Order: sequence, then C-alpha cells, then structure tokens
Amino acid sequence: MPELPEVEVVRAGLERHVLGATITRVEVLHPRPVRRDLRGQAGFAAALTGRRIEAARRRGKYLWLPLDNGDALLGHLGMSGQLLVQPPDAPPERHLRVRIALAGAAEGRELRFVDQRMFGGLSVSAGGAELPPEIAHIARDPLDPEFDDDAFVRKVRRRTSGIKRQLLDQNLVSGVGNIYADEALWRARIHGDRPGDRLTATQARELLRHAREVMVAALGEGGTSFDALYVNVNGESGYFDRSLHAYGREGEACERCGTPIRRIAFMNRSSYFCPVCQPAPRKRRAVVPRVAAD
Ligand SMILES: [Zn+2]
Repeated sequence: MPELPEVEVVRAGLERHVLGATITRVEVLHPRPVRRDLRGQAGFAAALTGRRIEAARRRGKYLWLPLDNGDALLGHLGMSGQLLVQPPDAPPERHLRVRIALAGAAEGRELRFVDQRMFGGLSVSAGGAELPPEIAHIARDPLDPEFDDDAFVRKVRRRTSGIKRQLLDQNLVSGVGNIYADEALWRARIHGDRPGDRLTATQARELLRHAREVMVAALGEGGTSFDALYVNVNGESGYFDRSLHAYGREGEACERCGTPIRRIAFMNRSSYFCPVCQPAPRKRRAVVPRVAAD
C-alpha cells in the first residue's frame, strides 16, 4: 500500500508534469475507480474535459488537482493505485482504468490511473479546489508545514487508547500508516499498546519527531525512483529493504539489543516491535467494585 511519503512523491511529480495542462479527453475503462463520483462515468468525463489543472495538492493520502473552475480532480491510490504520466502511444498498462489526455503545458502526454485491486479511485469534487469537502475531516500529516505539534501532544495524552491506534487515526494525524507507525515506535522505544494518557509530553513529542524523520527519509528515497519513472508508486520503494528496523523483521535481531523482533496481530494487520526495547504496558489495575458486607 502506498504510504504518505510515496503519495507526496506522486504529488510533487504531478506538480512538475501536469501543472497548467488542459484536459482534452477522458476515457473511463472500468467503472469501479470512478464509483464515488455521483455523476457517473460520462458525467465524470464531462466535468473534467476542457478544464485546466492549476496545482497539485495533498491532504494525508488524498491528492487533488484544483481546476480552473473551482472544482478539483480528487484521487486516492488505495492499495495498489498508480498515477502515471505517459506519452499517449505508450502501451496500455495491464490495469489501466482511466486515461486523461492533456494539452497545453503537458502537450502530448496522458495522465493514467492504473489500479489492480481498485480500492482507490478518482472523482470530481465540486468546489473542491481549495480543500475538497469530502476530505475536510482528515487531519494534516506530520510533513505538512501547518501541522500543530502541541495540539497533537495534548490530544494524544487525553486519550486512553493505545498510541499505535492513535497514530493510525486519520482524524488525529493523517498518513502515518502501519509501517511508519511501527518504525517510529521502535525508534522512540514505545510499545504500540501504551495508552496515550500514560505517555509524557516529551515522549509524545519525541514519537512525533521520529515519525517525521522516518517519513522524510522515505521521501528522499522515493524521490530517486520517481525521476526514473515520472510518477510511480508501487508500495515497494527501496526504502523498505534498506532502512526498516522493525517492520517486516519478525525473528531478526533488534539492531539495538539483539532480541528477536516480535510480530503480533493488530487491527487485521501486524505490529512488529522489540519486546525488550519496547516493553508492553502493565495492565491497568482493575477497579473491583466493593460489595458492602452486610
Ligand atoms: Zn531491542
């Protein structure tokens, strides 16, 4: 699944390659990726045709391209989505779902949405140029210059839910994802089940700093693969092989203490952690109601 740094790489790529382009033709090859657009396939195509792309923006893992009429082309890559900028005569990709022909600033190029599993998709957001209302509830991500660190720390420490669950809560902080959460927790030496209200402000702040560092490192590496492929996201950038300390390393020695990394089930996924560096929280003492002895 593309994580936030990769989505940011795609955003930066779109900014470089399709800014100022005019959409001349839209071809929907499969209905599922445009299912969220209530106009239907033909309406989706009509709403885009003739419009000029003014910018490339992102909130969490959502991308949008503001259009010259105040609407926006809103996209999410889901589990396996890719946005590619291709010459029109490039052979169609196996899972090509939507092709958007461009003129003007991107003369002779096509923006292609390729998605094997089709959890992602595209839609036209009415009036969404500034911020699509569909995603206005999603919190900013740690790489966003306007992310509020103090508010994050305050909110985390008010909640009793586990810190990993909180890191994955898109209403609190967006775009962290399972892999970056595990990596940030390992770096901060915090177990994912530790309740937010049992973190110190310093710990919460440090954890945020680590999450940011992990994401920035991934962003740097994703940028390398981007230049070779225009806009490409496949969820398997070189970052995953070279720089992970916990995620995907079950049974391998912790790089700090040598203890084998453990894997446990977590919300239909997995959590990887070092049981020594990241000790499990002690259970809260159960409050046993006293029964009057009479
Ligand atoms: Zn360790």
